[in-house]
Amino acid sequence: MECMKSVTVQCPYCGVLNEEMIDCSAELPEEYVEDCEVCCSPMLIRIFSVEGGMPVVEAHRENE
Ligand SMILES: [Zn+2]
Repeated sequence: MECMKSVTVQCPYCGVLNEEMIDCSAELPEEYVEDCEVCCSPMLIRIFSVEGGMPVVEAHRENE
């Protein structure tokens, strides 16, 4: 079953907060690349786990 959650992640390049829709039902850990809404740099989004219904997410620079 799909379970989409909205979380905010901080862009590792410009520091702005981006809103991301995370699918909690995905197999974790998962990572994908998403461009920052402001500086358009490729953020590597890592979803570690889902705790209390909220995904634990970190954004890193690509290739880091
Ligand atoms: Zn940015």
